[in-house]
Amino acid sequence: MAETLQELARLASGCTRCPLAQTRTQVVFSRGNADADLVFIGEAPGADEDAQGQPFVGRSGQLLDKLVAEEIGLDRDAFYVMNTIKCRPPGNRDPKPEELTACSPWFDQQLELLRPKVIVTLGNFATKRLLATTDGITKLRGRAYPFRGATLIPTFHPAAVLRGGGVPMAQMRADLVRAKEVLFSSEGVEALV
Ligand code: SF4
Repeated sequence: MAETLQELARLASGCTRCPLAQTRTQVVFSRGNADADLVFIGEAPGADEDAQGQPFVGRSGQLLDKLVAEEIGLDRDAFYVMNTIKCRPPGNRDPKPEELTACSPWFDQQLELLRPKVIVTLGNFATKRLLATTDGITKLRGRAYPFRGATLIPTFHPAAVLRGGGVPMAQMRADLVRAKEVLFSSEGVEALV
């Protein structure tokens, strides 16, 4: 068991627990502030992330950073970003259940060391995975959920907002305002459920 996120990232960087180790360029562990109370969790690294070694660095990441700055007032160095799985699935397919199972010890330790106050899940896959439900993001978003001592707020994946335009953009902004309210309140999830 690693005692720091830095040590955990170093250990994960050489991971070969699942076949994605053979096709990735590098393990994509996280980006941002390891002391942050706010963490965003997406599905899996894409091509840009696999090449650069950080999650959400392409157009989706730029939109995420912009919306967080505008709605929460935090710049990209003030929050933390990670994915449910640390290596890019070929062709950006969904991670397979056995890959998620293999990667979950990294994920679980990362969240345990991070101990965030607010978790924002980005998109269908991450939200369904963390809430262990088959309901879709459209049904799940719009409220907050208790999750491992934190408050979980689901929202759309920024890639879906880039495709969908005005309505999902407005809904994602509203979700970020909801996250801000919990982040700066002392009551946590009870304030919003
Ligand atoms: S996806 Fe996770 S379990 Fe699979 S090789 Fe990468 S770090 Fe290891």
